[in-house]
Amino acid sequence: MGETDGAPQRVPFSATIERIVQRAPDTRSFFLRLPASQRLAFIPGQFISCLIPQNGGDAVRPYSIASNPEEPELLEICLNLVPSGFGSAYLFSLGVGASVRFTGPWGTFTLDRQPAAECVFIAESTGVAPIRPMLRRALAGGGAFPLRLHYAAPSAAHILYADEFEHAARTHPRFTFAPLVDGSLPDVITRQYLQRDEDRARHFYICGVGAIVPTLRDLLRRGGYERRAVQYEKW
Ligand SMILES: Cc1cc2nc3c(=O)[nH]c(=O)nc-3n(C[C@H](O)[C@H](O)[C@H](O)COP(=O)(O)OP(=O)(O)OC[C@H]3O[C@@H](n4cnc5c(N)ncnc54)[C@H](O)[C@@H]3O)c2cc1C
Repeated sequence: MGETDGAPQRVPFSATIERIVQRAPDTRSFFLRLPASQRLAFIPGQFISCLIPQNGGDAVRPYSIASNPEEPELLEICLNLVPSGFGSAYLFSLGVGASVRFTGPWGTFTLDRQPAAECVFIAESTGVAPIRPMLRRALAGGGAFPLRLHYAAPSAAHILYADEFEHAARTHPRFTFAPLVDGSLPDVITRQYLQRDEDRARHFYICGVGAIVPTLRDLLRRGGYERRAVQYEKW
């Protein structure tokens, strides 16, 4: 087992939890260290499928890779403890030094290079996990097209990586960080990208839990944006 070259590996990896960071009251990052001979080549936005022991077998729970492909031997996943959730409760029960088995990388909700257009990222709660490396890749690519992040969460404490996004906004004039704690994402998106102008060249990347994701996708596509320009991942 060695480097994946981006092709998903079905034989599970076994990584060790090197560090755990509490990011919000119910949200933790787990840093998964692969054995020295292994690395996971992935594209920003992809996920791993964690194998959660259950009744002598494995249940599968996907988690987006929140870290950068430039560090393929140490992967960060960031998740919230879901009430009565089996997989998240199992991972939250683990401490530093425990093993986590997973396959991957998987997924087509990716950004390898910023398209020649303004890019708007829309995240809800932990849905920011895949968007973080996508945004970093877009920022690192240079270019002049604007980048925006609309990030909705139930409280200011749930805006994950806030310092990092604020710092990026200060150092990259083309990047705008728009956290949203009180207010409606569909309202903000409607005002800013459907009513304000006739520009329909933007690309959108949407990620979150449940109905909000298709709601935003449909709003934008019905509003005149091309299907392929509105990418999404619904958890
Ligand atoms: C491609 C993909 C990538 C994902 N990446 C992440 C990630 O980076 N971080 C992360 O926290 N989750 C992520 N998820 C969700 C994750 O796989 C699990 O569904 C989640 O942790 C709940 O699993 P559970 O076994 O604890 O609860 P379950 O009992 O399996 O799920 C209970 C309910 O919780 C809902 N749910 C799913 N995710 C969440 C959530 N985050 N918050 C609240 N409710 C949720 C489900 O729709 C389900 O109805 C991803 C899902 C997919 C499909």
